[in-house]
Amino acid sequence: MRDSFEIRAQDVAGRIGELRVPRAGVTVETPTLLPVVNPNLVTIDAARFSEFGVEMLITNSYIIKRDDDLREAALERGLHDLLDFHGAIMTDSGSFQLAEYGEIETTTEEILAFQSDIGSDVGTPVDIPTPPDVEREQAEAELETTKERLHVAEGIDTGDMLVTAPIQGSTYPDLREAAARHAYATDLDVFPVGAVVPLMNEYRYADMVEVLAAAKRGLGADAPVHLFGAGHPMMFALAVAMGADLFDSAAYAIYARDDRYMTVSGTEHLDDLEYFPCACPVCTSHDPDDVRAMDDERREGVLAEHNLWVSMAEIRRVKAAIHEGSLLELVERRARGHPRMLDGYRALLSHRDQLEASDPVSKDVFFYVSAESADRPEVARHHDRLSRFEVADDVLLTEKGGSDDFDESWRVVPPFGPFPRALSQTYPLTAELPDRMDRAGYEAAAEGVSRLVAANPDSEFTLAHDGWPESALALVPARVALVDLGSEDSNGTAPEDEQ
Ligand SMILES: [Zn+2]
Repeated sequence: MRDSFEIRAQDVAGRIGELRVPRAGVTVETPTLLPVVNPNLVTIDAARFSEFGVEMLITNSYIIKRDDDLREAALERGLHDLLDFHGAIMTDSGSFQLAEYGEIETTTEEILAFQSDIGSDVGTPVDIPTPPDVEREQAEAELETTKERLHVAEGIDTGDMLVTAPIQGSTYPDLREAAARHAYATDLDVFPVGAVVPLMNEYRYADMVEVLAAAKRGLGADAPVHLFGAGHPMMFALAVAMGADLFDSAAYAIYARDDRYMTVSGTEHLDDLEYFPCACPVCTSHDPDDVRAMDDERREGVLAEHNLWVSMAEIRRVKAAIHEGSLLELVERRARGHPRMLDGYRALLSHRDQLEASDPVSKDVFFYVSAESADRPEVARHHDRLSRFEVADDVLLTEKGGSDDFDESWRVVPPFGPFPRALSQTYPLTAELPDRMDRAGYEAAAEGVSRLVAANPDSEFTLAHDGWPESALALVPARVALVDLGSEDSNGTAPEDEQ
């Protein structure tokens, strides 16, 4: 059991957690976003971060170490004083520079000692960030190097500084999983999933989900997971639902530099905005014309502030959704912002067996709001349950009222399929459903019927459905008698009279 992380609430694979950071003397509530602070290029003073709800930031120890003035100041005054920030500080090691420029002038021993010396609360070894889509040989070889460095990091006495164990493996799920299993077996504390920035930059959210799903399979539930370099608010809900706890990003500042305005459904360019669709202090005290008229530095500053406000607000919204049990509903809404986000959501649902293990069995809400809702873990769980039910000899499965002509009469509700009437008031059968169900919902219900039928080979079944589409009826086993309630006369003929 890792004693620095505790889970308080859970929805899908997302969790509200408490990360204890002993050196800073603080406990950080996750999920959270760590704004990246480049000490050479400050966009928002870290002293102001608490206004935005920031509890933890990340800065780069390699940049500090290479700059004589910064190095001396950090060694003398400590990082918290240098940045004027008194929450938790994580430091990166130069791995990013290694990925960008091919080489760096430091080692894991040296940079971890330096991070400890300047007062970092969470340090990072020099891992090898292998980009997506490389040859497998390269991914394997670089992963071996990363693993060796984790062992080096384990052997260094860094006092009460937490140390991260980055997980690499490129876009090979088996390598990511093995890397995660190896990292989890070390005594290191926080688990960044590395080198995903190229995936984000290309909107490859489905691939991001695959990488995260693989890493999660190799980690224990008590491992705090950091999605390294991910900081666009549009993907927080998706990544949290897959089990990410920490995010960090310079995006709030980098986007501002290019006049880019972040929203939870994408990025707008300042030039294209007539109005600010946001209630943050920047957007309520300026209109887009005001901001366009500002000089470069001021414009960059206020846009960075807006970008950070909108990001932190989304983190709070995600946390609220976890408490409420509505995280998948939030992911569905965000998935409508961009087709690639929809791909990401569909990739998430393809891992529903994996998600089901952590998804609460009962929640307050289930809103069926898209065809994807038919693939939610709750539907799969109900179908699994149907395989374990025993029924009487002659069973009516009906979308309307029961009939005394059968030994037993079960309700049928798409997307769940059949269930005994006594379970009507239990989750997820209490779901709010649209009156106009989609094809996916009917097909899922038909899958439910076939699971129940398969589990009861000696029983006879009649399905009284209300105009199901052919694609759904084709999934119902041939031995089930079908009655279309929609073709009854208005007096409500009993199902058996239709045959
Ligand atoms: Zn705003």
